[in-house]
Amino acid sequence: MCGIVGYTGMQDAAPILLEGLKKLEYRGYDSAGIAVTDGGKLSVTKVSGRIAGLCEKVSNGNACPGLTGIGHTRWATHGAPTDTNAHPHRSNDGKFAVVHNGIIENYAVLRQELIERGYKFESETDTEVVVHLIEMYYSGDMKKAIIKTVSRLRGSYALGVVCTDCPDKIYVAREQSPLILGLGIGENYFASDITALIAYSRNVIYMDDGEFAEISKDEINVFNPQGKTIQKEISHINWDVSAAEKGGFDHFMLKEIIEQPNAVTATIAPRIKNGHIELDDIQFEEGYLENISKIIITACGSAYYAGCAARYAIEQLTGLPVQTELASELRYGNAFYDEKTLIIIISQSGETADTIAAMKECKKRGSKTLAIVNVVGSAIAKLADYTLYTWAGPEIAVATTKGYTTQLAALFLFALYAAQKRNTVSQSKYSLLLSTIKSLPGKIQEALDMSQSIPKLAKKYCKTDSMFFIGRNTDYAASLEGALKMKEISYIHAEAYAAGELKHGTIALIDEHKPVIALCCNQTLLEKTMSNIIEVQARGADVLAVTSADNQQIVSISDDVLFVPKIDTVFSAIVEIIPLQLMAYYVAKENGCDIDKPKNLAKSVTVE
Ligand code: GLU
Repeated sequence: MCGIVGYTGMQDAAPILLEGLKKLEYRGYDSAGIAVTDGGKLSVTKVSGRIAGLCEKVSNGNACPGLTGIGHTRWATHGAPTDTNAHPHRSNDGKFAVVHNGIIENYAVLRQELIERGYKFESETDTEVVVHLIEMYYSGDMKKAIIKTVSRLRGSYALGVVCTDCPDKIYVAREQSPLILGLGIGENYFASDITALIAYSRNVIYMDDGEFAEISKDEINVFNPQGKTIQKEISHINWDVSAAEKGGFDHFMLKEIIEQPNAVTATIAPRIKNGHIELDDIQFEEGYLENISKIIITACGSAYYAGCAARYAIEQLTGLPVQTELASELRYGNAFYDEKTLIIIISQSGETADTIAAMKECKKRGSKTLAIVNVVGSAIAKLADYTLYTWAGPEIAVATTKGYTTQLAALFLFALYAAQKRNTVSQSKYSLLLSTIKSLPGKIQEALDMSQSIPKLAKKYCKTDSMFFIGRNTDYAASLEGALKMKEISYIHAEAYAAGELKHGTIALIDEHKPVIALCCNQTLLEKTMSNIIEVQARGADVLAVTSADNQQIVSISDDVLFVPKIDTVFSAIVEIIPLQLMAYYVAKENGCDIDKPKNLAKSVTVE
């Protein structure tokens, strides 16, 4: 969660920090602050609320001159989002300021120790221990102070530190929180995420766990935990700057919904060559896929729901049992997995804390891990045995859309690829399904084109505080993501239910105030779901059905219908989610919600 940014160079730092924070605001947005050094002077400004408030307070940066600085946009974990708890935090002697992304798990013990040694705490945050530790360990050598400080910390952190004794330098350190260094000419940067750097620098260094760095305008030195200089690879980013801009759309979410045909093309097109799937970026050992006995898919949130939806395709095509496990549960549970189990890990950001922890647990037991990740160079991508990037481009809206559909596309590719390796699919079926996968971007575009009535329907369906999403099998899997979208951004209670379960309890809640969104794209189960539609209608619920273009019989039993293009059932979730994303978007818009920055949420959940 949270975003951190830093600059040192020949320009005033504050305006650059503010621009960077605006780009990172999607990662956390309850308070923000900057610290700028100007010779031996350190000025710190922080406010609760959005970056706009901070910009106002520092007159867009003009009020804090200085060529070096650090900034933070917070997603509070320890202490309310107040001005005092906002970062940067300052040392008692006024020499140091620190920004931090993550959680210091042993902060309580450290805080007690520091209080006993006479340090005064201003905030309730876990972070503040870091700045006092630096002050305690500093005796003129920042490198030594950083080494000693981080050796005391447990938990996750990306840290940015400035010191008035070396006002033209920034120190950064990383452990389990994203941190990227940006290289310029006569100026250098750091940030949590490429989006904050892309306007200034395309040459970046991905920091790894345990490393720290000294950044000055002309050079960057990266060190291992013992302080030994290490050579880091410089990666070139070829994203278009506009990819991280709204480009005329009201919200990033709508832009990203519309981008889905292109994003899914980016996932699949480079991997289909001469009528075959070629996963060039992953090298499974000879015979590996043929000999595994089970797959576990683990993830959090929408990525988990992508796993739930793709499970049907993987099971059906590969003949392997597939288990889906929430990462936060898998890591503490007793699920059975061993060296014959392939663990598929899904994460848009590649930094999801619970997913990383689950992944480490699985690796300990000898299972191989295949990561489906969007952000290149992220922690999960690096930890995994095999990584399949989704290439969706930057996703800024907190509620994922193209992140989810590109994950599905990658999983479908994997399912068919593994099926061919395992010889569980005939050549003709392989060719047929491959052409269906190739057609997905076009089908998603059709689904977008068929959604014209949604803004009008949203006016009707926004007037409730609770709704149900029902479906069976693949439709049920899609309903999980549909309901999550609705609750995340509209704050309407939305619950996904396996339609067959309704009679086992939930139908008691159905009445005229609770609309039901019924997913009926699964052709084999259509009649069964139609019976459920009739049952909830009989109890007064308005029913909005989502179904394939040729299922006209749904019209007579539903209040409203949204059609999507017909597609093989195993892949249908990728198409039927489109109207559900748009429905959530327009309902939230109707209700005046802050769509790209929903309350209490943040993109990239880097804390547990
Ligand atoms: N744990 C720190 C705090 O609550 C940092 C949170 C963040 O990553 O935004 O202030």
